[in-house]
Amino acid sequence: MSPAISGTQWDIAAIKLTYPLLDVVQREGVVLKRSGTQRWQGLCPFHEDRNPSFFVDVERQRFVCFGCKARGDVIDFVRLHERLNSVANACAWLARTLAPPTTRGSSRPGAPPPPAQRRWDRLTLEQQLVLNAAGALYRDALWRNTRARAYLTVERGLPEWVVRACGLGYADGRSLEAHLRKHGGLRVAEELGLLRRPEPGEGGRMLRERFAGRIVIPELRGGQPIWFLGRHPSRVSARVKYLGLPGEKPVLGFERAAGRREVYLVEGAFDWLTAVSWHLPAFSTCGTDFPSDRLGWLAKARVIFGVLDADRAGRAASQRFEAALGHRWLPISLPEGDDLNDLGRRPGGRAQFFRLVADARRTVSADSRRDATCTGK
Ligand SMILES: [Zn+2]
Repeated sequence: MSPAISGTQWDIAAIKLTYPLLDVVQREGVVLKRSGTQRWQGLCPFHEDRNPSFFVDVERQRFVCFGCKARGDVIDFVRLHERLNSVANACAWLARTLAPPTTRGSSRPGAPPPPAQRRWDRLTLEQQLVLNAAGALYRDALWRNTRARAYLTVERGLPEWVVRACGLGYADGRSLEAHLRKHGGLRVAEELGLLRRPEPGEGGRMLRERFAGRIVIPELRGGQPIWFLGRHPSRVSARVKYLGLPGEKPVLGFERAAGRREVYLVEGAFDWLTAVSWHLPAFSTCGTDFPSDRLGWLAKARVIFGVLDADRAGRAASQRFEAALGHRWLPISLPEGDDLNDLGRRPGGRAQFFRLVADARRTVSADSRRDATCTGK
């Protein structure tokens, strides 16, 4: 798409200079890693991407996904990601939502960090109260929405107790604003990215819920949601299947795994929910991309079972984790093309998984016996 348009007040060239693509993509919560001098790579936010196929070219200021073929400049990115219907709306969104990098993050002491650097384990009391309110509304809405509930229990095969224990919810797209208007916290909800103002031409004056129409999976710490991940309960249509709150994504299921001697690292949020249903001390990295400088909390784990998808991205991630975690890392080979949630939905899938775990253990003990023999002990 060409950014050249007529009849609006936006200076497209100036907008593009003010909002560098890489900065905007990262602030929108897409995790990227450098993959060349001018290139960054990550999981595509526009399709269910398991093999990082989304690239940002810093020199050309363009992105491309080799999976879903999405491509364009910073304005195209905003249009697609925020589902806006025009270039003018995308410019307006940028100008209103994201302050340019230079004026942002002023040296004012105690100023909140910009969204891209937001760490969800650091929240003010006010922010936590708003997240708590949102979590409670999402949970209530789930019990009123039979389609969303059927998606969890029938399509994803999750038992009701997991839905409750993990605080799963559904965003109906209207309750949050109504609640916060009455009880306060609208501004904080906007800051956190839970709500946004309607674009010109979008119609209506209601604030838009980030997760409207999505199943919501919270990361709970001490029983309080500190972050949300949204998933559309449909296989098709939605451009962005998984959507998190912007900022550094936390470990999903941290409290179930922290301090345990054996833990299970799983790839996706629904894999994690399946693992919870099997009472496993599991956590999810919500994708295969996870910075190694955030693995220190696993130091007490003697075994970290790696339950990654049996595809190219999963295998590459397994190698990275092995390099970072050494002898602690014990990958489980899932059947080709399956993830843990696939196994969980299949009769006998659970038994099959525990056989794979036993196989992995046997391989390791056989290896260590052989090593002991070789060194003559
Ligand atoms: Zn894509």
